Amino acid sequence: MDEEVIVEDVEDVSLDVESKISPPLINCPNCDGLLPLGLGEKTCKLCDAVVRVDHESTRQEWKDERISCPSCSKVLVCGVDTRPAKIACSSCDTQFTINPKIVKVEIACPACERRLRLRPRPGSRAINCPACDEGFKVTF
Ligand SMILES: [Zn+2]
Ligand SMILES: [Zn+2]
Ligand SMILES: [Zn+2]
Repeated sequence: MDEEVIVEDVEDVSLDVESKISPPLINCPNCDGLLPLGLGEKTCKLCDAVVRVDHESTRQEWKDERISCPSCSKVLVCGVDTRPAKIACSSCDTQFTINPKIVKVEIACPACERRLRLRPRPGSRAINCPACDEGFKVTF
């Protein structure tokens, strides 16, 4: 299983912290579709190409990222260049997870031109505009 689930559904778990640094959105070199978010080996959902996604400066920023402990608020340097990262607070011993930042993309509804924000997911999907209820398809 890849990390897609994390991007999708992790929300508001009290001992989880969201990273402020998001990995870049990278397109498949083979079909130009959007690859699953994150770094490492990713399988393109559209053409099944396996692509090694890496981004040196993101990894460095992840490593240097300062995070406040969700339990005692002490500021810790993450020190780990992957996301999600499991961290133990040096002051209160609480273990917590730093989740990748969820990047959202903005699109405009083709019917009413209202700006909508969504989480990019590879492939196409059907959307109903919350403003005008128009159904349309989005492809990343
Ligand atoms: Zn592809
Ligand atoms: Zn702590
Ligand atoms: Zn609309």
